[in-house]
Order: sequence, then structure tokens, then C-alpha cells
Amino acid sequence: MTRPRCASPIPLATLLAYWLGELDEAREAALDKHLLGCGHCSSSLQGLVDLAGEVRAAVRAGAVHAVLADAFVKRLAAQGLRLREYRVPHNGSVYCTVAPDDDLLITRLDAPLAGVERLDVELLGGEGAGRERLRDVPFDAAAGEVVLTARMERMRALPASTLRMRLLDMAPSGERLVGEYTFHHTPHRPGDSR
Ligand SMILES: [Zn+2]
Repeated sequence: MTRPRCASPIPLATLLAYWLGELDEAREAALDKHLLGCGHCSSSLQGLVDLAGEVRAAVRAGAVHAVLADAFVKRLAAQGLRLREYRVPHNGSVYCTVAPDDDLLITRLDAPLAGVERLDVELLGGEGAGRERLRDVPFDAAAGEVVLTARMERMRALPASTLRMRLLDMAPSGERLVGEYTFHHTPHRPGDSR
């Protein structure tokens, strides 16, 4: 594919933050302007959007986490983004942190999803944040997992805390708990290797 060159291409990590709505207003405005005039960078951004268009809607809804397609995660890794991944067993728990040079935090929740038609994710925050819910998230029943990403700014600011997530099967007959996951989060300490 040929596309116009850019003298100072926007790093993929920044495009991703832009797309996830994580940049502050000033940086977002600067990027808007660059993207309008730059075919190279806007085509890079389009590549991200094409891969996981439905994610943006979840993020716009104000959710803490976005749900990603596995193919999208693989593409990000192939592009050289530094991903920190945690897999949480069904109804299990994990110890987690986020390092300053991580670009993205990926969480894979193992879950029995056969027969599930509509899936909600409920987030029970520490920090007195109460509950948030991602409604009707995309998932791949055959893969038996739900892939999420966290908002990096929020994770970096988080003190040591315990967070919980619940997967809910929103069946017409009523809500059914599919799985419950616990995250023991600790802030990254300088000197930790990763
Ligand atoms: Zn550019």
C-alpha cells in the first residue's frame, strides 16, 4: 500500500489513546488538526478503527474498559506496542500492576460462553467508584474468553486496591452470573523490572 509520507508520524500508541478518548483536550485538538492534513497518519488511524469499530462505542459510553477483538490485540503487538497481558481463570484472581512504559493493559477473562447471546460486564471498583457496566459487549463464544483493555491513565493513578469484574449473561429469562474475577492491583514501584 502506498500512502503519503509524514515528516513526524504520530506513534501508534498515541493514535490508540486518541481513538480510545484518553487524550486531554489540547492534545486531542492538536491531533485532530494533524490528522486532517495528513493522509499517512489518518490512514494509520483508520487501520485501527477498521479492526475494532465497535470498541469505540463502548468507550464513548464512558466505560472504564473497552472490549477488544483478539485479532486487534495481535495487530497492536505486531505494530510494536508494549502490551502487558493478564489472563484470569474462570472465577479466579490475579495480581496486577502497570509499568510506566506499558502502552496497553490487556485482560483476558476465561469464561464459559456457549449459549450466551448478550453479555454485560460489570465493574466493581475500589476507590469507592461504585459500579459501572459495559452493555452488550462483543465476545467470541468459541474462544471462551472476553478481552478487555483498561484506561491507562486511570490504572496508573490507582492506589493498591482490589477490583472485581462480573460477566453477566443477559438472557431473556433474566440475568445470570457467568463468572467473577478479582484483580489485586498494586502501583508499579520504581526499580521493578517490569
Ligand atoms: Zn502525520
